Formats: sequence, structure tokens, C-alpha cells
Amino acid sequence: MPQLAELEHLVAKLPRRRIGFYPTPFHKLENLSRLYGVSFFMKREDMAGPGTISGSKTRLAEFIIGQALKDGVDTIITQGAYLTNSGMQFVTAARVAGITPILYLTRDERQGSVAEYRGNLLLSQIMGAETHFLTTVGAAYWNSTDEKDRIVGAMEAHAAKLQTEGHKVLIVPTGGAHPYGFVAHALTFTEMIEQAGALEVELDYIYHTAGTGTALPGMLAAKLLTGHRVKFRSVAINSYRPGGWMNKDVIVDRVKQVFQALNLRPSSDEEIYNEIDIDERFIGEDYAVPSVEGTAAIKELATSDGVFVGPIYTGKGFAGLLDHVRTGRVEKGSSVAFLHTGDTANLFEVSGVVGDVTATSQAPHRRETRAGTPGP
Ligand SMILES: *Cc1c(COP(=O)(O)O)cnc(C)c1O
Repeated sequence: MPQLAELEHLVAKLPRRRIGFYPTPFHKLENLSRLYGVSFFMKREDMAGPGTISGSKTRLAEFIIGQALKDGVDTIITQGAYLTNSGMQFVTAARVAGITPILYLTRDERQGSVAEYRGNLLLSQIMGAETHFLTTVGAAYWNSTDEKDRIVGAMEAHAAKLQTEGHKVLIVPTGGAHPYGFVAHALTFTEMIEQAGALEVELDYIYHTAGTGTALPGMLAAKLLTGHRVKFRSVAINSYRPGGWMNKDVIVDRVKQVFQALNLRPSSDEEIYNEIDIDERFIGEDYAVPSVEGTAAIKELATSDGVFVGPIYTGKGFAGLLDHVRTGRVEKGSSVAFLHTGDTANLFEVSGVVGDVTATSQAPHRRETRAGTPGP
């Protein structure tokens, strides 16, 4: 079984364009740990850079763009919901690498057209990304294959047109789920285990927020390869039901792709499948709709340790972790790392996306006493 350093050595043979600052920080959440009697750590992919606001897609982008540059690609077209974290990070990465970024963004018809640029969309516009909007029915287009085909079709038509003009175009699917990228988060795993080791900590659990299935495959492959005993727990922000666009079989397949990229013999499907533990109880009403638990988790973490998680992904993920700690699914005395995958730009979205993060339980009373006058 390869050790951490050997695994890193194998990954180092793959094409990679450096974009972020790695290793990302890893630190203990002192106050939350004291409160719950569990040692909480945080792996800060949200601080990957190079922009102030970043996330887990930047690591994927380093490998996808590394290969793209070798292939002579000059334009990247990628796609997501209009508030996509991934899209913004791919625009950033493309700019760093001198590649032209083009975004295809979906918006639920109920939301109407964009009234003002906020959050990730604002950042992508500052970077001058050519942006195309597509109207969908429902917040998440991937509920329907027809919708998905329409969006992929629009990107492919655009790519074909650019190609006739002499450009070389790479289409990166939603969330950066391109096969070149899955290996990237093997390094998230090795970094995390090494950083925990430097603090003389052996991790029992790694929690993360699961969506488009890009961070887990690399991390799981690395865990299986190194034989580490840590357990992965994923908190989903979209459905992982069997047969849906995203499910455990897709993850198993991508884990095998990571083994393949490293020229190693894969674990059996069953072995991989058994490592996948996904909690779908924290999705809330829908994708990009704030949940009560997510909002509470954002506030609790910021208040206790000054770390910001976001409303669409990491707030819901952290809510899942806190629930597991409170209900004993994470035993007292355990050491747990939460992978902070980003999403902070979405704290600056419209209130319907952010949720009621400024409310406190005593707010109405306090407002009254402070103002000294009856409420409106
Ligand atoms: C994309 C994203 C996720 C989901 O990640 P996957 O690893 O693709 O499942 C989680 N959190 C944030 C902030 C993201 O941008």
C-alpha cells in the first residue's frame, strides 16, 4: 500500500497548472470543540485562492487546465446555476492560465432576470467572463434530462462555432466534474492526514458537503490506497437517490477513474461502495433554498470560531455535522475534520438565497429596547 508521500509522488506526474495556494490551511475550532466535547478541525479549501473567495473547484481546475494547456485549449466553457461557486472558480483559474472563460448559467423562471450582480456572479463579471443565461423550470435543471440536454446542447453548439473559427475549446461539466479533475482531491486527503499528524491528531471522521460528486472520489481513492482508518461522512445538498443524475454508483465509477489516472489497480466496487455514507436529510426544501438548520449552523460557527460557511452548500453540510455530534453519531472525544469547500460568496446573495442569518432569537425584544419606541 502506498504511503501518503508515495501517493503524492504519483499525482505529481500528472499535468497540473498551479493556480491556488496549497496546502490549504488546517486548524482546530477551539471554541466549538470545548462546547461539544468533540475535536473539530477545518480544512480550508475556501481559502485556496488566488481570489479572496475560493473553494474546492480550484483544485480540480489545476488538473483540468493542466491537461487542457497540453492539448492546446484556448477557451473553456462551463456551466452551473447562476450562483455557481464552480463557475466563478473556473473563470478565475482560466484567467490565471490565460484561457478565455465562457459561462452558461441557469436561472429558475420564477426568479426572473438578474436584477443586480451579487455573489459569485458579481465576481465573474468583474473578471469579465462572457456569460449566457438560460431559463429553467425549477432551481436545479438536472431534475430533467431534457433540460440537461438543452443546456449541454447550447454549450456544444457554441464550442462548435468557436472551433470553426480556429479555437480549441474544452467544455467542463457542472461542478467541474471533468474526468481530468477527480484525482485532485486525493491531495486534499493526503494534506489533511499530514496536517492532522503534525498536530498529533488521528482523525476519526472527515465530513464534507456533497453535491456534484467531485471532491469525494479523489479523497476516497486516497483513503483506500493508503489504508487509512478515517471514515468519510457526506452531507448532501441534492438527491443521491439511485437512478438520479447523481448517486453512489457515479461516485464508485469516479473513484475507479482516479485509480486509473494513477495507473493503479482499483479496489472492488463493493469495497468502494461500502465507504460511501451520504446523509440526505439536510437538503431542506430545495437546492439554493435556505434551510433552518443551515442558517443556524452558519450563525453558530461564525459566532463560536469566526469561520463563515455559505447558505447553499457548506452551511447545510455543517448543519449535518452538528446534528450528528448532538445525536451521538459522532461520539464524544472523536476527532472530526470538516472540509470547507467554499460557498462564502453566496452569503452576499439576495436574502431569499442567504436566509435569515442576521436574526437572533431575542431580536424583536432587543430592537424595541434599543430603539426606545414601539416597533413599526
Ligand atoms: C461544488 C461544491 C460542493 C459539492 O461538491 P462536490 O464535491 O462536487 O460534491 C460543496 N460545497 C461547495 C461550496 C461547492 O462549491
